Amino acid sequence: MSLDYYLWDTLKWNIDRRIVRKTSESIIDASRLFVEWIGANDHPIINASRNISWKPSSYIWRLIGFHHVELATVYVDPRSLSIETALHELAHILDNRLGTHPLASIFGGGPSDDMLRFVGIDPDQFFPRFSAIGYEQSLTRAGCELNPTKYGRSKGPAEDFAEAFRLAVLEPATLEEQAPKRSEWFKKWKI
Ligand SMILES: [Zn+2]
Repeated sequence: MSLDYYLWDTLKWNIDRRIVRKTSESIIDASRLFVEWIGANDHPIINASRNISWKPSSYIWRLIGFHHVELATVYVDPRSLSIETALHELAHILDNRLGTHPLASIFGGGPSDDMLRFVGIDPDQFFPRFSAIGYEQSLTRAGCELNPTKYGRSKGPAEDFAEAFRLAVLEPATLEEQAPKRSEWFKKWKI
């Protein structure tokens, strides 16, 4: 069974033809690692991951250096994308689709909120969820563990979740050692 079959049959993702081969390979590798991490094809998290489109971002977004997500589409710099970033962006899609609000990564209501509550802080005080001023200080003041990555601990719950997700998939030992609460939450989440 080829990787392409795996990708399209299980996840039904679509990769825009303008995205170069190396970038496509990162997306394909990310999909394989993600499905293996879940460990089952018929799973609510897999179901929420189907029919994602990967498209090139516009020039202005590339200039700023951002990949970003809009509902079921991930806009990436078509020239380069790491497996880490592909998984990070996938986490935003999951946050939006598994939550009570289709824009959970902005307004909350997604699994990122659940993760935050498990870590020991109320996510509703942070808005917008992807960039809330004073996020790291609030967690520190509340005595909560912080995300191991600088981006994950300084922006807001949505970025915290996306960074913790990519670590859970790619570097579970790092996450378990440096953020055991988040590690535990992800283990329970994918049961
Ligand atoms: Zn992000």
